[in-house]
Formats: sequence, C-alpha cells, structure tokens
Amino acid sequence: MNIVLLGIQGSGKGTLVQDLSNHLDFSLVSVGALLREEIATGSELGKLIKSKTDKGELVDIKIVIETVNKKLSQNRKPIVIFDGFPRSKEQADELDKICNVDLAIYLDLKKEDAIKRIMNRLTCSKCGNITTRVKCPDLICPICNGKLTVRSDDTPEAVNKRFEQYELETYPLIKRYKERGVLVEIDASKTPDEVLKAVMKVIK
Ligand SMILES: [Zn+2]
Repeated sequence: MNIVLLGIQGSGKGTLVQDLSNHLDFSLVSVGALLREEIATGSELGKLIKSKTDKGELVDIKIVIETVNKKLSQNRKPIVIFDGFPRSKEQADELDKICNVDLAIYLDLKKEDAIKRIMNRLTCSKCGNITTRVKCPDLICPICNGKLTVRSDDTPEAVNKRFEQYELETYPLIKRYKERGVLVEIDASKTPDEVLKAVMKVIK
C-alpha cells in the first residue's frame, strides 16, 4: 500500500508520522530527509544537491526521483508513506511511473490555524527540543534550561510566502487524487490523538 501525505506546514504531518510509527510498520520516504542524508554522505550527488539548496533553488526532479528510487530499493516494506513528495504535478507524474498511489491523506488545516501553530512553535537553541510558547512562556527549555527561540524562517512573511507556494503546487494534487477516488480528508485542527485515530481507521 502506497500512501501519500499532503498537508500545509503546521498541519501536523511530522507528528502524525511519528505517532503512526508506534502502531504501524512502514517505510517512510521523506524527500527532505533523504536529500539531507545524501548531502551528509558527501557524495557527488550530495554536493550537487547542496549547491542547489544553498542557493534556495529547487532540486532537479531527476535527482529527487533518484533519491526516492534509491530509498525504495532498500528493504521496502508493504506499506510505504511518502512525506513531502509529490510536491507538484510534475513530481506526481513521476511517482505514478514508480508506483500506484493507493491512498492520499490530506491533513486539512485552515491557513490561519497553521500560522498560529507555527508561530507558537519554539526550538531550544541548545538541545534542539521542540515545544510551544503555551507550554514554555518563559522561553526556557524544560530539558536543558537553554534558550527557546522561534525558527528564523518562521516569520509571518516567510510563512505566508511558503503557503502561497504550497497552495499553488499542492491544490492541483488534492484535486488529482480526489478525482481518482483515493483522497481522504482529515480535519487537522483536532488533537494529534484524534488525527491518528482517524488516519488509522482509513489505513486498516
Ligand atoms: Zn534544551
């Protein structure tokens, strides 16, 4: 079973993947993580990827597909979850060549709610712990006493810009999977537990 996860930043995709891994055995294809891993190996391909991302340019689709294929060739489990891929119609066309998308889970969250969540998110500058402004209003990390900060690319302007890009790229994908009858929309404004339950129901 091949599952595509769709959702705006802040919709809780990362949390869902984490929670699912406690209940389900699956291969995760997270393109962002794969590209970072390839860079870390120091390979020629990794250097090429780094030169692109350093300039803020999109990584060539051929390279993205190559890393996805590489990942899929390594002990692929019966359930594969794609996170952060496909991002565009072009990428979705490529994915169709590799495998059948059986299910597309769309974590539906209003833009305003997503922005609220992102703005609430704090990261420890010392240990990397991720928490929220609501839990730690004093901006001190409960684990190491380090200083909690907002991610530098999480300004309202940057978030708005990413959302515009997202809508442009991803809405056609939502339409595409809906027309094929494989799209399931999940209300992502619910708690992580409720979202997990709803998703598990669909997968089983
Ligand atoms: Zn800390």
